[in-house]
Amino acid sequence: MLKDEPHFLRSIKSSVRNLNAYRVTQDFSRVKLNQNESPFDVPQDLKEEISRKLLEYQWNRYPDNFASGLTAKLSAYTGFPAQGIIPGNSSNELLQALIYATCNSGDTVVVTTPGFPIYKRIADVMDIRVREVSLRRDFSVDPGHVIAASGGARLVVLASPNNPTGLTVPIEDIDAIATAIDGILVVDEAYFEFCNQSAQQLLAKHWNIIVVRTFSKAFNLAGMRLGYMIGNPELMDELGKAKLPFSVGLFQQAAGETVLENQAFVKTNVARIISERERVANELKSIPLLQVFPSSANFILIRSWKV
Ligand code: PMP
Repeated sequence: MLKDEPHFLRSIKSSVRNLNAYRVTQDFSRVKLNQNESPFDVPQDLKEEISRKLLEYQWNRYPDNFASGLTAKLSAYTGFPAQGIIPGNSSNELLQALIYATCNSGDTVVVTTPGFPIYKRIADVMDIRVREVSLRRDFSVDPGHVIAASGGARLVVLASPNNPTGLTVPIEDIDAIATAIDGILVVDEAYFEFCNQSAQQLLAKHWNIIVVRTFSKAFNLAGMRLGYMIGNPELMDELGKAKLPFSVGLFQQAAGETVLENQAFVKTNVARIISERERVANELKSIPLLQVFPSSANFILIRSWKV
C-alpha cells in the first residue's frame, strides 16, 4: 500500500487490489485474433428481427428471471430437459456463480495450465485456492494428475476444447475424472460447436458433471453476453440461487431465442471456420520452425522455435 494513497482505497480487500486490471486490446483490425470471437457478424435480417422483438417488449419491466422462452429453445437445441438448463449473462457469469456456490475462502479449485485465466481470477477475489495441474508436453490432460490433485477440492474445471491449446479432453478421461473425484467437474465447452464431442453424453451417468457453454463463439454473439449451463436439475436448482436474478436481460433473451430459431447461419459459419482452420493449419505446417497443434476450436495454437 502506498503511503499517500487515499484512505478509502484501504477498504478494497487485498485479493482484489492484487489483481491486474483485465485489459484486452480493442483492436479493430480487419483480421482480429486476440479474443477467439467469430469473424462473422449476425446476419442483418436476424438483427432486424431481434430489434423488432425489442420494440414490442416493455422495457420498464424486469425480464423473465428464468428466461423460459430461451430455456425451452435451449432444451430443443441441446436435447436436454429445460429443468437442467440455466442461461446466464455469459459463461463467465455462470463460472463465477459455480465457483462461488461451491467454494468458501480457503477451499480448493483444480484447473489445468495453460488454460483460460478467468477461473483463477474469479477464485482469487474470494481467496479460493487454485491448484494448477500442468498439461503434458503435447498439451493433453493427464487424467491421473488431475485426479491426484483433486483430493479435497470442491471443484475441478476442464475446458474442452481448451483455450489456448484447442485440444479436447477425451470423453473416457472426463468419465474417469468424474468417477474418481468427490467434488463437481465443470466442463467448459465454449468451443463445443467446433468439435464433435460433448461431456453432455456423460450427464446421465455422472450427477457431478456440469457443462458450461457460450453464445460468444459459434453463435457470433460475443457482444451480447449470453451463455448457459446444463446438468442435474437438482444441482441446477441450487446453483441457480447463486446467480444474480435478472442477469439475462431482454436483449439477450431476444437475441438468443432468435438465433436458436434460425440456426442455419450458425452451421454454415461453423463449417467455414472449420475448413479454414484446417487449410491454414496445413499451410502453417509447411513453414519451418513452426509447430502447429491440432485444433478442435475456432483458433490454432502455434509454437515457434528459435533458430
Ligand atoms: N471459456 C473459455 C474456454 C473461453 O475461451 C472463453 C472466451 N474466450 C469463455 C469461457 C468466455 O465466454 P463468454 O463470452 O461466454 O464469457
